[in-house]
Amino acid sequence: MTDISENIDRIQRRIDAACCRSGRAPQSVRLIAVSKIKPAEDIEAAAAGGQRLFGESYAQELRDKVPAVTAEVEWHFIGALQRNKVKYLRGAVALIHGVDRLSLAEEIDRQWSKLDAPVQVLLQVNLGNEATKAGIREVDLEALARQVASFAHLSIRGLMALPPDLDDPEEVRPYFRRLRELAQAIDALNLPGVEMQELSMGMSDDFEVAIEEGATLVRVGTAIFGARPKKVGV
Ligand SMILES: *Cc1c(COP(=O)(O)O)cnc(C)c1O
Repeated sequence: MTDISENIDRIQRRIDAACCRSGRAPQSVRLIAVSKIKPAEDIEAAAAGGQRLFGESYAQELRDKVPAVTAEVEWHFIGALQRNKVKYLRGAVALIHGVDRLSLAEEIDRQWSKLDAPVQVLLQVNLGNEATKAGIREVDLEALARQVASFAHLSIRGLMALPPDLDDPEEVRPYFRRLRELAQAIDALNLPGVEMQELSMGMSDDFEVAIEEGATLVRVGTAIFGARPKKVGV
């Protein structure tokens, strides 16, 4: 067994334990192995150990990596996305986590209309109103949900957040809880084309707390693949 698949096993056991603690079914949480900046061989090693979902943050890197991986995997795009790079994701990703503005949704709709197929998306919320982070402000979330729901080639599946970087996971808990409350509020509107099934929240340092607060997708990179070198310009 490789280190990578051992790490995944260890994380999966922690996911199961967090589900148990919070009275949730272990299958209600899916692990996304965040493989940005990591080579295709690492992804193959994880896939050989049974990992299926992989998250990437850079559009060109994803475009180049997808054909380099031969294992049967599902790709998610979890990073900040510029309009002119949406084309690199077309047909390659199952879920785009970070839709936070109308212009981006428009371009995703345009690209997936070429495939004549819809893509699943999550709306990203900037819970801490941090200037450096992507995401729609809470007050504008409902309006964005209504607008994005009108596109034929986007299907809203839930919410995603990247809360403030705080040292203690317990300090992040209120943000996770807030994201769940926002999802419940949107769900209660019963908007056509909008489902609030997924909550994408929690990373290497805080995924257990996120699960206790309702996460259905946890995005774990470092704890699986090890530390990443700093990417210039990011
Ligand atoms: C890189 C990244 C992660 C993974 O972070 P780790 O701390 O390495 O687990 C999760 N979510 C997003 C949006 C990321 O960009």
